[in-house]
Amino acid sequence: MQRLDQQFIDNHWVASRGERRLPVINPYTEAVIAEVTAGHPADVDAAVAAARRALPAWRARSGAERAHYLDGFAGALRRRRDELIRLSSTNNGKVLAEAAIDLDDAIACYRYYADQAHALDARQGRPVPLGMEGVEARCYHDPVGVVGLITPWNFPLVTSAWKLAPALAAGCTAVLKPSEVTPLPERALAEIANEIGLPAGVLNLLHGDGEGIGAPLAAHPSVDKVSFTGSNRIGEAVMHAAAERTAGVSLELGGKSPILVMEDADPERAADWVMAGLYVNAGQICSATSRLLVHEAVAEPLYAALGERIDALVLGDPLAEGTTMGPMTSARQREAVQGYLAIAEREGLAAVRDARHRELPGQGFFLAPTLYRDVPVESRLWREEIFGPVLCGRSVDSEAQAIRLANDSDFGLAATVVSGTAERARRIGRQLQAGSVWINSEQLVLPETGWGGVKRSGIGRELGPWGLAAYLEVKHLIGAA
Ligand code: NAD
Repeated sequence: MQRLDQQFIDNHWVASRGERRLPVINPYTEAVIAEVTAGHPADVDAAVAAARRALPAWRARSGAERAHYLDGFAGALRRRRDELIRLSSTNNGKVLAEAAIDLDDAIACYRYYADQAHALDARQGRPVPLGMEGVEARCYHDPVGVVGLITPWNFPLVTSAWKLAPALAAGCTAVLKPSEVTPLPERALAEIANEIGLPAGVLNLLHGDGEGIGAPLAAHPSVDKVSFTGSNRIGEAVMHAAAERTAGVSLELGGKSPILVMEDADPERAADWVMAGLYVNAGQICSATSRLLVHEAVAEPLYAALGERIDALVLGDPLAEGTTMGPMTSARQREAVQGYLAIAEREGLAAVRDARHRELPGQGFFLAPTLYRDVPVESRLWREEIFGPVLCGRSVDSEAQAIRLANDSDFGLAATVVSGTAERARRIGRQLQAGSVWINSEQLVLPETGWGGVKRSGIGRELGPWGLAAYLEVKHLIGAA
């Protein structure tokens, strides 16, 4: 069994000061596949000090020089693609095809920010047009400094790429803390750092949980900014900790995203997009379109098409060809979702499909793909993030009602609109409170377009030029021409 009791600091693996150990579990076999240190605040001190030492030389490099290393990450991930897909699948439980999409997303992200690092050089020192004779202003983009990057377990290698790539492109040095539930895939980043000759201290990787590493990292006086992806509860704690020293935060938090299916939509195509928006990764997606608002004119054919597609899902070994839905990533997450299923039972929600319609594999943290219809808006299942394969539907009788109900949520991460014409879908999309709206589409997430939410779904944007801006401070030099 692998023992992950070392931390990657200053390009060396050094023993963690923490004594607690946590099991790392394969969610399909339920076997313990590794043991990871819970970490210790002293590990954080050492990693932050290394990042601080590395900062002056790293930020002094040109964007083009930093781009070379980002290309190095992309190339190394590409070379190790097959191995990392299997590792991700083994640790997280996602099926191979989905793990492959993740890997390609991460590679594209490092490539994209290599280009952004190049382009940053040309943006430095640009004159700012002024309406004042004899006065000149120039604008520069400096790195924020030492950044703490904290990621969840649902998209290993992706959530870290979205932070690490722009942070390094900007000239920041980083302390990355992957989730203790899925610590295996991200270790590759430390190995790659050594392989490509990344200067010591630019990337430090700490294993551990919230108590051992996460909280001390968020509260560390020498960390200039924290970028966090995870739950609202912890995101708020991170923000509190950063507020104590007026440090910046970027937060990518939960969601309860709607999918609107209008009366002019083709129910068969809509069903494909509903399926892809929720039952992927066993529903453990922050942008899961988990509230279905369907026009009553197409509700029956849509529910029929969804029932067929849910029945066709193949639950089983995520590493096996033909499996289309793996287990939940942890027993804990399965329990959390089961709590919502118990509420649904008590509330007497109408199930189109649930556990009664399916036999589960004999092992693994599986949950039956579930679909409720006519869910009351007061139900906790309608309002709270479930983070599992549970879709809640409601019929609407007009476009206006669909928009009103879609926006009636604490969250605002994403949304999907399905309509007979893209023009109408876009018009509806403009009225939705969300960071991303998919128009007659599956959930396309590309490095060029921003990612992030409004309302309680978070603060700031990742990806695109906005993802780079999150790691830059704007500085003006202004005075006599
Ligand atoms: P989580 O909040 O439990 O953990 C996230 C990370 O924070 C982990 O690395 C964890 O160890 C660490 N952590 C725990 N306690 C901490 C503390 N006190 N201080 C600092 N760090 C601490 O979330 P999770 O269960 O790993 O992930 C699921 C959640 O993530 C869901 O709510 C989901 O919506 C959200 N998510 C959001 C996005 C997005 O882009 N908006 C993407 C993926 C996941």
